[in-house]
Amino acid sequence: MDCEFTYRVPEELERAVQVGVRVAVPFAGGREVGVVSALAGESDLHPRRLRDVAKVLDQEPLIGSAQLSLARWISERYACSFGEALHAALPAALKREGERRKTRTIRALGSPEAAVLEELARTQEKQHRLLRTLLEIGAPVELSEILRRSNLSDAPAKSLAARGLVAIEWVASASDEFSSAPADRRRPDHLTAEQSTAVAVLRGVLDRREHRTVLLEGVTGSGKTEVYLSAIEHALSLGRGAIVLVPEIALTPQTVGWFRSRFADVAVLHSRLTDSQRLTMWHRLFRREARVVVGARSAIFAPVPDLGIVVVDEEHEPSFKQGSIPRYHARDVAVEVAREAGALCVLGSATPSLESWHQARLGAWTHLKLSTRVGARPLPPVEIVDMRNEGARGSRLFSNRLKHLVLETLAKGEQSILFQNRRGFAPVLWCSGCKQTLRCVHCDVSLTWHQRIGRLVCHSCCEEQERPGACPYCSAPGLRYLGAGSERIESEIRALAPTARVLRMDSDTMHRREDYEQALSAFGRGEIDILVGTQMIAKGLDFPRVTLVGVIDADAGLHLPDFRAAERTFQLIAQVAGRAGRGALPGRIVVQTLSPEHPAIQCAAKHDFARFAAGEDELRLELSYPPHARLVRIVFEDEDEIRGRDCAARLVAELAAESERAGAIVLGPAPAPIALARGRHRQNALFKFADTQAPLTELLAALKKFATSEAKTRVSIDVDPVAML
Ligand code: ADP
Ligand code: ZN
Repeated sequence: MDCEFTYRVPEELERAVQVGVRVAVPFAGGREVGVVSALAGESDLHPRRLRDVAKVLDQEPLIGSAQLSLARWISERYACSFGEALHAALPAALKREGERRKTRTIRALGSPEAAVLEELARTQEKQHRLLRTLLEIGAPVELSEILRRSNLSDAPAKSLAARGLVAIEWVASASDEFSSAPADRRRPDHLTAEQSTAVAVLRGVLDRREHRTVLLEGVTGSGKTEVYLSAIEHALSLGRGAIVLVPEIALTPQTVGWFRSRFADVAVLHSRLTDSQRLTMWHRLFRREARVVVGARSAIFAPVPDLGIVVVDEEHEPSFKQGSIPRYHARDVAVEVAREAGALCVLGSATPSLESWHQARLGAWTHLKLSTRVGARPLPPVEIVDMRNEGARGSRLFSNRLKHLVLETLAKGEQSILFQNRRGFAPVLWCSGCKQTLRCVHCDVSLTWHQRIGRLVCHSCCEEQERPGACPYCSAPGLRYLGAGSERIESEIRALAPTARVLRMDSDTMHRREDYEQALSAFGRGEIDILVGTQMIAKGLDFPRVTLVGVIDADAGLHLPDFRAAERTFQLIAQVAGRAGRGALPGRIVVQTLSPEHPAIQCAAKHDFARFAAGEDELRLELSYPPHARLVRIVFEDEDEIRGRDCAARLVAELAAESERAGAIVLGPAPAPIALARGRHRQNALFKFADTQAPLTELLAALKKFATSEAKTRVSIDVDPVAML
């Protein structure tokens, strides 16, 4: 499905063929599934070259004209083919003739002998890594999911199966895990004054059936969800449907339950649905049996007839941008979907992206604010602790203040959250002899020491290795740890508070969705005193007994070579801080930092989004970065460093005329901040457009043509990039 092709409709199929149904057609000697995108009266192809549609696969259309025109829009905006855009928009099951009702799972068979594991560790790193993970999980998991997360092909899985160490099985698809989501959110007796005002505005837009984008800026705990629910309720009463996008990580039974408690039939679209489940959801939406969709990024493509409202919660989240083709941003697509449908688009966040804030400030979008928490609960006070005053630089993880508060909170029987946005024990292993750090041979990143599994891990390609006894460069003995990941925080806090019940949540401990949900509900029941975690715990958690939040190292992301580093730091601190003091008990936040005067940290500590945004916006204007410019990033990857570099230089030279015509300032080509990943050398070039309205169509077409004609170097085009490394 990469392109549009013309076929003849035989007479007997004439009645069955309509736009949006799938058809089986002869293609390249075999048969392929295609979607009817248009019906033409005639074709300029020679009749002898026209081939017949073989079979019509659907009785009713599965893809509306809205989805088809959206796919066209995506292909133009993000420089991909129509087929690639359609591919992203369609459930996988629709792309095959049959339906698949089973998924493939993998599980470890018993516990292998130590010698077998040791041998694997030495000789088959990938098999060892997979087997060890499966042994740890101790239950069947979906094969495709674990391979994707471990960055493996299915070869190691097959080898393990051949040796009888694992079993790969087809199992009937599980029932929808979200159907049992607790639906226990009570409708509040009254909306707060700010909520009422916001809801009135949204209802007005819906009543007038106009298209409008609204930025709902509401501090954490201000009751944004209630505003969404009321607006959706109103849309339904007008006979219109709704799409709600939440970040993948926030798509929990708790969140889904909020919507289930209010609306009879909620379709949940998430990445772990099997093909047939997804297909069922799709049918139900198309037939108007379900009118509300809740899902992650790709739910924006759900076919909701007579769409009235699109909600994007946590609109600033980088995960709304897809990392592979088509590299679309679901928030920007949501605005387009709403525009096309004449619908209301609500973008909610406590910490809006500067792009959205800018649109609101310009007046292009409506800006609504919820400035106080529900029940007039105060936003928790934030203390900044200057770690430069806490003993020798970098040698201590906990300030005296944080230590004291953790113990005090524990003594009161209340809960704490400790946030460290980095996995593993130590992010760097360092030789005090030659001052070098241990790096991955395939990637330009340092290896992270993971204590529990006793291996060095590359967080870019996932490869593991044993820890050398001495420095591999100068043979000096005694490699040292530098810095701390969540695993080290956990181990130190256990030493500090031996009686506390501590749980670490990061992608090393939470292998399966179920683990994550069980952990959260245990925390909710008060069975855990201290939760240590990465950004997995920064989002959306609503636990009233959390009264202390500690940000161990606020600077971790501050100095990355990315123009959004300060914005991300501000957002993370504000989001984590929002986890405390959500119930009747007041909360407090401790932010440990080596740059206490940095505006991102200062403003986050004062819960002052407006001041942060204004200052940051000025910098962006000065340096001509979004929202005051648009960017197109081109990444060149090649095992052969020189060939990749040549390709990058050639693109910039060959497209010089088009670039100038489009008003682009071209930066680079230059080595990307991560100059080597998975054995490929990386170059990048940045096209900057100071005029954000600049028409990019021609330049993008030229870039696309260049990229697809390049045989050796992998050239990716990223329009409005979110990742800059
Ligand atoms: P946000 O998404 O803005 O962080 P939530 O929507 O999660 O905030 O609301 C925070 C808490 O306040 C929730 O527990 C919610 O049930 C409660 N809440 C929301 N609106 C009201 C209201 N009008 N009256 C009482 N409680 C409310
Ligand atoms: Zn690597």
